[in-house]
Parts: sequence; structure tokens; C-alpha cells
Amino acid sequence: MKLFLAFTRRGQHDPGREPVIARVVKETGVLINVEKANIDSMAGEVLIDVPDKDADLVRRHLEEMGVAVSVMENAIALDETECIDCGACISVCPQGVFSFDEEWRLRVNSERCVLCGKCIRACPHSALSQQG
Ligand code: SF4
Ligand code: SF4
Repeated sequence: MKLFLAFTRRGQHDPGREPVIARVVKETGVLINVEKANIDSMAGEVLIDVPDKDADLVRRHLEEMGVAVSVMENAIALDETECIDCGACISVCPQGVFSFDEEWRLRVNSERCVLCGKCIRACPHSALSQQG
């Protein structure tokens, strides 16, 4: 399951100054896959992937450290009324999120998405958007 983490780096006890992911791995024993991280001096946003069965445990630990956690069930949303099944998103997605079905209609498997944003920029009909 994908979890999107957000934290600020202000104050003395903020999570941005602590190795929160390393701490959660150490405390829970759950292996966390970091898929995307964007951290600067003010704030951090990190996308992680954890086994479904451990997601609640990991989420609890992170929230106890002051990290805001969102479950990314549908990281990329498709507006079917706008999609023209052109396939541009299939070409650019590095994770194989998109494919065509037997009738050449677009299928989306957003579980694999790492929120790189390439498909959103490539879509000629603005049919794709990012959750949250
Ligand atoms: S945001 Fe990136 S990984 Fe996610 S579906 Fe779009 S191209 Fe694929
Ligand atoms: S790029 Fe946009 S219009 Fe083309 S198939 Fe993908 S979602 Fe549909």
C-alpha cells in the first residue's frame, strides 16, 4: 500500500529533523520502500510503499511522530469523460500504470504509481489528475 507522508521542518521536535522512516523501520521491523522524496529546509513530502498488512502499524508510528499520512488508494484519477484513449500516458509512464483493454479503452492500475506527474503533463485532454 502506498502512503504519502507530509511534514514541516520547523521547531525543535519536528519530524523533519528526525530520521522518521529509519525509526519506524527499526521500531516495527517493517521494510519500507521509499518511492519518491521531496525534502527541503522547510518541509518534506515522501511517498512510501509498505506491505498492506503492515500499513496501519506504520501509519500509527508515523502519526505519533507528527507526520501527516494519507493512504494513496487512487494516486492518479482518470476523468473518463475527457479521455480519448490516445495512449500518450501509456508511453510516458515509467511504472506501467496504464494499458489498453481488449476494446482499446484505457485501463488504470494506480497501485503502481509513484506520482512522477509525467502522465498528467502528457495528457492532451487534461483527463488525469493527482489525488490530494
Ligand atoms: S504519475 Fe508517473 S507513475 Fe503515476 S501514473 Fe503518471 S506517469 Fe505513471
Ligand atoms: S493521455 Fe489522456 S486522453 Fe490519452 S489515453 Fe491517457 S488519459 Fe486518455
